[in-house]
Amino acid sequence: MQIFYSDAHLGHTDRVEPLGSRIVPVSEVPERATAILEAVTARGLGEIARPRDFGLAPIHAVHPPRYVEFLAAAWRLWAAQGRSEPLLPNFWRARIPGINPGADIYQMVDYYSGDPGTCLVEGSWNAILASANCAATAAEIVAGEGSVAFALCRPPGHHAGQDRMRGSCYLNNAAIAARRLGREGAHKVAIVDIDYHHGNGTQEIFYESSDVLTCSIHADPTLDYPFYAGFADEMGKGGGKGFNLNLVLPRGAAFAQWSVALAACLQRVRDFDADALVIALGVDTYKDEQNPPCYFRLESEDYFSVGKSLGKLNLPTVITMEGGYNLDAVGTNVANFLQGFVACNRLA
Ligand SMILES: [Zn+2]
Repeated sequence: MQIFYSDAHLGHTDRVEPLGSRIVPVSEVPERATAILEAVTARGLGEIARPRDFGLAPIHAVHPPRYVEFLAAAWRLWAAQGRSEPLLPNFWRARIPGINPGADIYQMVDYYSGDPGTCLVEGSWNAILASANCAATAAEIVAGEGSVAFALCRPPGHHAGQDRMRGSCYLNNAAIAARRLGREGAHKVAIVDIDYHHGNGTQEIFYESSDVLTCSIHADPTLDYPFYAGFADEMGKGGGKGFNLNLVLPRGAAFAQWSVALAACLQRVRDFDADALVIALGVDTYKDEQNPPCYFRLESEDYFSVGKSLGKLNLPTVITMEGGYNLDAVGTNVANFLQGFVACNRLA
């Protein structure tokens, strides 16, 4: 299995978010990716390579150029205002028809932000671009070889909508991989999101598509992020109706309950007859995820089983890294998943 990683993510640091009445450091920190890299290296899971530079074409297949231009220029425009602190919105503009994002950095950050946990600093764009290129490179390799690749993406991507950054996500890496697989010949791509939180950005991007099946197993959005999407009755729209599956589990769900949802998800992927798979891999389903607090109860050993179950689909697969915040466990949990996957996938 090839693994794609860039240390450009190290510059995406010192970010902040509001918590109650305080401004606090974010939990989506560089040490997460460092811990994962160390674990997959120690486990000998595959060759680690830098991503290729595809320019913006794979990104524009998912995100409108105007939004991408904002991400690329935001820090320069902010610094030109004499500002040096992390860039956060002042408020969130309602998306009513005809509203214009504006050309001013204050207007644009309000328009393109979906929550206060997703700020930009000087090194953010390089990290965001490298992360997307990890996903695109993995997709290119998987499409060409009919194999399996792991995109060690940071920042993560599954909360990013077509033109909205939120949940520490800016560009939707899983969506970029799926579109790249489609461009390279996959007629049906399934995305399986196993992060604790609903993959709301991915759902939004493909909500009216029937060539990309989106499945997500996650916490009840009544209680957990993203709060306004991820309910079981959201099944797609128009031509995409029936091609979005949300499997919602209660707080406290352990592996026995979680794996029943996974089995339903795998059956849906088989019924769809996918010819390529993207796994949005979050391991914040772990039993000890406290910052941000998550409430499933998977053990580290369970991730072997999760990887095996998805590996047995025997599909060309891109795995993109999403959440997982316990720095003592995130590397082990990801490595366990990948080891289980490789053990059971004939293409790996
Ligand atoms: Zn998450």
